[in-house]
Amino acid sequence: PKKQRIDKILSNLGYGSRSELKKFCKNGLVKVNGKTINNPGVQVDVENDEIIFDGEKVTYKEFIYLMLNKPDGYISATFDKRDPIVLDLIDKEDLVFEPFPVGRLDKDTEGLLVLTNDGQLAHRVLSPKKHVPKTYYAKIEGVVTEEDIKAFAEGVTLDDGYETMPAELVILKSDEISEIELTIHEGKFHQVKRMFESVDKKVIYLKRLSMGKLKLDENLALGEYRELTDEEVKMIE
Ligand code: URA
Repeated sequence: PKKQRIDKILSNLGYGSRSELKKFCKNGLVKVNGKTINNPGVQVDVENDEIIFDGEKVTYKEFIYLMLNKPDGYISATFDKRDPIVLDLIDKEDLVFEPFPVGRLDKDTEGLLVLTNDGQLAHRVLSPKKHVPKTYYAKIEGVVTEEDIKAFAEGVTLDDGYETMPAELVILKSDEISEIELTIHEGKFHQVKRMFESVDKKVIYLKRLSMGKLKLDENLALGEYRELTDEEVKMIE
């Protein structure tokens, strides 16, 4: 069984700092299996013991999984010197889990971004061997054609000589400003923008719609996020 100090468990779950928890214990706010715990150093089995804080049951979790509808203007990183970062959009209670973005979206790209503190899941999803599909909606400057569909299906050569894997392009609107959906199975730097550059077109708006079988919840406004359900977590891989 996973035993940990009660002050550490509760502070990791966002109930306060270690010194605050020492006080809360002293004041009798913490109960384990029906018994008031005054000593913050008591070892507790997080999986089997029942923890009550201030009269309410504490649900233990190690990992947090969030789906964010990323807005334009935010960097998908945990730190930036100049610009706002996606973590600025996450509430303090959730930040105690120290989530980080699974992969990157460009500063000006919107849409589905998963954040978690589950490093192993992130590693599996990002592994180049796994080819987790990612679908994007984009507005393109230029008329997107059947030739582009064929080119992307066969693979195009990017500016650095990289040959892309087969990708599925769907034209929603073919015009001076076209609208498309593109599914890619890898994640090179600026990949969608560079694929369109390779056919002399320019991405003027980009939004990620899905990752694996996980789709962006359209009820989330830009900048809003929610926790994933257990089923949704499995859909990413
Ligand atoms: N491709 C891009 O060019 N940018 C992104 O943000 C994601 C995929």
